[in-house]
Amino acid sequence: MNQPSTPSVQGEKSAHSELSPAELRAISNRFFEAVADSVLVIDQNGLIIRLNRQTGEMFGYGCDELLNQPLGILIPDRLRGPHVKHLREFFSNPKNRPMNSGFVALGLRKDGTEFAIDIGLPPLVMESGVFVACTIRDIVSQEHLEEKLRRHMKGLEQADRNKDLFLMMLIHELRSPLAAIAYSAELLQKPELPHNVRTEAARIVLKETNLVHCLLNDLRELPRIKHGLLSVTKTTQDLAEIARLAVAINRPLIERCGHTLETVLPATPQYVQCDATRMVQVMTNLLTNAAKYTPEGGHIRLCIEEGCDDLVIRVQDNGIGIPEGSLTSIFEMFSRLDGARQKYADGMGIGLAFIRRLMEAHGGSVKAYSAGEGKGSEFVVRLPRAQITPPDTVAMVAVE
Ligand code: ADP
Repeated sequence: MNQPSTPSVQGEKSAHSELSPAELRAISNRFFEAVADSVLVIDQNGLIIRLNRQTGEMFGYGCDELLNQPLGILIPDRLRGPHVKHLREFFSNPKNRPMNSGFVALGLRKDGTEFAIDIGLPPLVMESGVFVACTIRDIVSQEHLEEKLRRHMKGLEQADRNKDLFLMMLIHELRSPLAAIAYSAELLQKPELPHNVRTEAARIVLKETNLVHCLLNDLRELPRIKHGLLSVTKTTQDLAEIARLAVAINRPLIERCGHTLETVLPATPQYVQCDATRMVQVMTNLLTNAAKYTPEGGHIRLCIEEGCDDLVIRVQDNGIGIPEGSLTSIFEMFSRLDGARQKYADGMGIGLAFIRRLMEAHGGSVKAYSAGEGKGSEFVVRLPRAQITPPDTVAMVAVE
């Protein structure tokens, strides 16, 4: 017989001389019952000579029922042959086989059901011979628990990502009103400017402050936005007026970039049911992108056309263009094309995703068109026409 890998307990002496052998026995008995796993001591004939309460519970037996029974009673019939062989080999060469070694066995309950178990087989070499202290763990319930934990973790991670997404959107959306406020404040510092320009600058400050206020209100809506819901408050609005306001907000940027701007707006009011603040945001974002992704001295065109049941807003530029394969993906959150990323560090790939969600919330749509890289882009927004004449239209004055 080979030497066992575990020390023999032959002639063991207590290191704690103050503990009597009876006390030591009591302690070891307590340990035996306190462990969460099933523990059984098997003799060389494969009989269970000792077991803890957990063993009975795991296999559905009363403890007395298992005493002096062969270990094979806990193993499915078809596996008993290999099990007996395995046990014989173990006793002739008693090497420690720890749990968690990746070996999954099958256990058999009293009611005939089978379940996956992990078995540890440490040999016990005593004066009277070799025994084995068999430890058994029900890995089905352990796997269930782990699966439950994994699902819980996934949920938490998703919630965390959604919160990050919302904060990024908020940061992005705060930028444009703050830029407009800063520019208008600069104008207000110049007493030599005509009265109407200063009045308009003051109006933009108020309007944009209101936008910031709305965005901050969104913070309170975090639980809803987290699930992709954006609140829109619709009133009857003249889309051309909204376009004029967006133009007024973007004009400083467009001029700074040296672009020319052409606007083709209907002479008569064109009514839609929309959230005015959100629609200004949509047009402002599209105009900002047109200015941003067009090399200096470009041409930008904004037009509103009348469709049968809807109104169509077109924002065109002769800038860097969009490859055909990216015309849809640019509306995904955090999508930025290489061309944009290389040349324009500023941007998080949030604006178009935000616009798409807003348009969906309005029962409208947004689409991108381009003949390819370097060939300019066109963004087309469609909004259903309002069916009613507006008694409650919120007046919006814009300058050009
Ligand atoms: P951001 O501009 O902050 O990157 P957007 O969501 O507004 O985010 O746009 C997503 C991407 O779509 C941009 O990074 C750019 O690659 C592309 N894009 C948007 N507008 C235009 C445009 N007018 N011309 C060319 N590419 C554009």
